[in-house]
Amino acid sequence: MAAEDSGVDARGEDRARTRHRPPLETGAGGDEPGGSLAADLRDAVDGDVRFDEYTRVLYATDGSIYGAQPAGVVFPRDTADVRAAMAVAADHDAPVLPRGAGSSLAGQTVGPGCVVLDLSRHMDAIREIDPDARCAVVQPGVVQDDLDAALEPYGLQFAPDPASSNRATIGGGIGNNSTGAHSVRYGITDAYVDECEVVLADGSLVHTRDVVLDGPEWDRIVSKDDREAAIYRTVRALVEDNADEIAERYPDLKRSVSGYNLQKVLRTDSEGNRVINLSKLLVGAEGTLGVVVEATLSLVTRPDETALAVYCYDDLLEALAAVPAALEREASAVELMDDEVFRLAAESAEYAEYAEPIPDGTAAALMLEFDSEVVDDLPAAVDAATAALVGEGAAFDSIPAFEPAAQDRLWKLRKAAIPLLMSMDGDPKPYPFVEDASVPPDELAAYVEGFQEILENHDTEAAYFAHAGVGTLHIRPVLNLKDGEDVEKMRAIADDVTDLVREHNGSFSGEHGDGLARTEFNPKLYGPDLWEAFQDLKSTFDPDWRMNPGKVVYREGDPTDVREHLRYGPDYASLEPRTALEFDDEGGFSDLVELCNGCGTCRQTDGDVMCPTYRATEEEIATTRGRANLLRAAIGGELDPEELYTERFQSEVLDLCVGCKGCQSDCPTGVDLAKLKAEVKHQYHEREGASLRKRLFANVDHLASLGSAFAPLANRATELPGARTALEKTLRIAPERTLPTFRRETLVDWFEGRDADGVSETRARGGSRVASEDATAGVVLFPDTDTNYSNPEVGKAAVEVLEAANVRVTVPDLGPTGRAAYSEGLLETAAERGRELLEDLDPYLERGWSVLFVEPSDAAMVVDEYRSLLDDDRVETLAANAYGVCEYLDERRLDEAIAFDESATAGTPVTYHGHCHQKARGADHHAVGVLRRAGYPVDPVDSTCCGMAGSFGYEAEHYDLSTAMGSLLREKLETSAAERTGDDGESVVAAPGTSCRTQVGDFEGYDRPAHPVELLARGLESG
Ligand SMILES: Cc1cc2nc3c(=O)[nH]c(=O)nc-3n(C[C@H](O)[C@H](O)[C@H](O)COP(=O)(O)OP(=O)(O)OC[C@H]3O[C@@H](n4cnc5c(N)ncnc54)[C@H](O)[C@@H]3O)c2cc1C
Ligand code: SF4
Ligand code: SF4
Repeated sequence: MAAEDSGVDARGEDRARTRHRPPLETGAGGDEPGGSLAADLRDAVDGDVRFDEYTRVLYATDGSIYGAQPAGVVFPRDTADVRAAMAVAADHDAPVLPRGAGSSLAGQTVGPGCVVLDLSRHMDAIREIDPDARCAVVQPGVVQDDLDAALEPYGLQFAPDPASSNRATIGGGIGNNSTGAHSVRYGITDAYVDECEVVLADGSLVHTRDVVLDGPEWDRIVSKDDREAAIYRTVRALVEDNADEIAERYPDLKRSVSGYNLQKVLRTDSEGNRVINLSKLLVGAEGTLGVVVEATLSLVTRPDETALAVYCYDDLLEALAAVPAALEREASAVELMDDEVFRLAAESAEYAEYAEPIPDGTAAALMLEFDSEVVDDLPAAVDAATAALVGEGAAFDSIPAFEPAAQDRLWKLRKAAIPLLMSMDGDPKPYPFVEDASVPPDELAAYVEGFQEILENHDTEAAYFAHAGVGTLHIRPVLNLKDGEDVEKMRAIADDVTDLVREHNGSFSGEHGDGLARTEFNPKLYGPDLWEAFQDLKSTFDPDWRMNPGKVVYREGDPTDVREHLRYGPDYASLEPRTALEFDDEGGFSDLVELCNGCGTCRQTDGDVMCPTYRATEEEIATTRGRANLLRAAIGGELDPEELYTERFQSEVLDLCVGCKGCQSDCPTGVDLAKLKAEVKHQYHEREGASLRKRLFANVDHLASLGSAFAPLANRATELPGARTALEKTLRIAPERTLPTFRRETLVDWFEGRDADGVSETRARGGSRVASEDATAGVVLFPDTDTNYSNPEVGKAAVEVLEAANVRVTVPDLGPTGRAAYSEGLLETAAERGRELLEDLDPYLERGWSVLFVEPSDAAMVVDEYRSLLDDDRVETLAANAYGVCEYLDERRLDEAIAFDESATAGTPVTYHGHCHQKARGADHHAVGVLRRAGYPVDPVDSTCCGMAGSFGYEAEHYDLSTAMGSLLREKLETSAAERTGDDGESVVAAPGTSCRTQVGDFEGYDRPAHPVELLARGLESG
């Protein structure tokens, strides 16, 4: 199936990552940590080999409750590298663990002492797409959403849709036999993996595919005297010899991912041949049998349209009892949510709006999705379901949703369940260890009744949600795993649930796999004969039992124990550092660090803001998770606690976080790394002192004020021969960057001098052109450093627009908010600036005036950062009265009173890049609304941080990373421009952030973008 033959572009190995990835300094250097194993690996493979302690911490955990350090990590570039690494590991008798995104929930990717093969970094190519044959050939590291994006133009998709698909890799999906909400219709991954290239434990390469038993190919394979022949002979014998036991023990379910797939490896094909396909065995093997280096996947067509309906019940068990009736309706998804999910959503700022449609008294709800590939008439299908579930059933209400936006909101509510539960404060948390058992749907109600009894017996509780249609519910008992008694309780609950699952003909795992959490119980689930077959199977593929040991199957005498290798066990204790910032809302510094559960959402490759540094580098150390893991290791004693205050920790872990606050809003549990970074940097400066450069950047307003006083001379100074080199040498400022220039007349000067412009003295005071008696409101426009000294036209535009809305504006001479100092971790300076500003704003706040910002990072500083920086009652008053200019106009709809010249605005398509600090406050939509009402056609791009981030982009050592992040934004801007070629006028880019405008202005072929208020001012009707 050559790509050329299929009529689509060949997708070579470098396709997936065309962007420039800046090399990061990592701790991999030094004196060859890892001894001769690491040295031999370095000799044998092209990709990086890292055995340093940071890397070991970064790869010690996944999305589960487990944690244990591997020996080191290899980043193979290709199949040859994987083979070479496996051969070296075999020579050293070292265990090996293949890994994708590490989002597993049962500890599959936690391997003490293993050599981890990170296949996500380089081996992520989509090699071929054949739309006619509906299949694709991919490397294991490709992210599922990236594959789906590439398939979309062909109307195709990869059917299994785990909720983690925005970072989960195909290799990991194969390892875990993943699936998602649509498994009712599509089943699980094993149905879609047709062929694999697999590297075995000894480094040999095997191609698995359909082989007709006793046909010529079979004879050729088994006639050899090698590992492949032994595997084929053994697997066939094991399956045939245990046929009765397999029929008896494997439950007849859409989802069963416990144990090895013995029930699927032999089948009769459409021509009546008995066929063996070892690919089916590799799916769900959790990396214990070999490393998949390439897979041929079959694809399905995408439905054109879908409809949703939510059915509300006043009793959980009644909702569950209705599942069989729901399944008769030809739904492609049947999902469950309970009142705990609704309660948590209603209490959360982010999800409350999604829970609004759910009526009071709903104890549980079933959500049914219908798609146009299965049913011809979507409204009729919903009506029929409503008649069955409400008319004839026990549901008391229904919420139909036909519009994509309405459906999207309901799916968001359903998918919010895990994040909402995991963001629970404090040590007791709803932990995953029995969270995905699967039973036949008609047993579900009885199973849940039994589960409730188990929870009662163990004096704990849980929430219930997920894939009711396939009998898989996510039930996470609330435990404190730092307490030894609760660890024992966990095992006892797991044991009881295994019995319950057996009683109801189910599988202990219907979704997340065995890993360290469930392997212990496989002998009970499958019985002695099949357990022995698992062991024989393992010995044949991996005679020395070195592939991901202890998962799916264990060796006699070396059992897997659900209680071992816990990330937070009874022995875990963390330091609670004394902090300058307030961490009460988060329960303390360490609680905020420990909120990271390893889900890996910060490795998402598109959408939202979090985490730009990972997207630009694809390095685990540059994820929010990586930073949180290293912080936890330091406060938890895995690293020396003093490590926090080393230069290495600062430069490799903290300095690369750009403080965009993306994680504050996008991390499902709210790990606010920007805040943690500011605190640790502060403590570092307290001990070691801050560098001259840091102090200069922290007080950039002083520099700007000087620059303005000596403008235009000061601007020319940086153009003098040798000036840039001197700046690079002394302050390490990137020579490639355009430096800011300064205006002699500041915004404040301009505003004060306005009365002289012929405006009547009686109507204006202090530069305002709206008299107080005529004004709808009074506001302070904050003169931030850039607007005041470098770009006053932005402030002038804001004044003009606000006055057009009849708002009385004043622009007092105010000091900075302290944002620059905060970003540098100079918290005392930041606090001092904050206190001064509060003092200066006090009279205006007392008068009930609002404070408006054109710079989003300053708005976020006073609304958000001041709360933990300053102990002053006025902070809340300021936060309640602080707005971005567009936010202020939009919330009050003041712009509706402004006359815009639509003949000018309608012809200017705008591509809008919101600031990440605005996004963190959920305030980036305001400018879009106002610009649209002014007549501009606006395309808000779903972009991450621009990469400039205050001083970050100016720093020579961060220039490459900054421009790599910038290139992500540039891609978005270009896509938007390309999609809008139909628009008549010339497209412009608008961005409220100073940093973003500087970054885009430095792109080749781009002008410095406009601030949205400048566009609004340009659009005002003259006269
Ligand atoms: C919030 C959240 C929601 C989730 N939702 C779902 C869901 O809806 N459905 C679902 O099924 N799962 C879900 N998961 C679990 C997990 O995300 C999926 O199983 C996912 O497919 C794993 O992909 P990964 O790249 O992270 O794999 P990893 O975790 O890195 O690896 C998974 C397993 O595959 C093995 N492996 C990796 N690469 C290879 C390879 N090339 N060859 C052989 N073995 C390999 C590993 O050794 C490991 O045993 C969820 C997890 C989280 C945190
Ligand atoms: S930082 Fe947040 S998104 Fe990233 S792994 Fe941790 S919990 Fe998940
Ligand atoms: S603040 Fe931004 S760069 Fe830093 S960890 Fe969070 S998302 Fe990543």
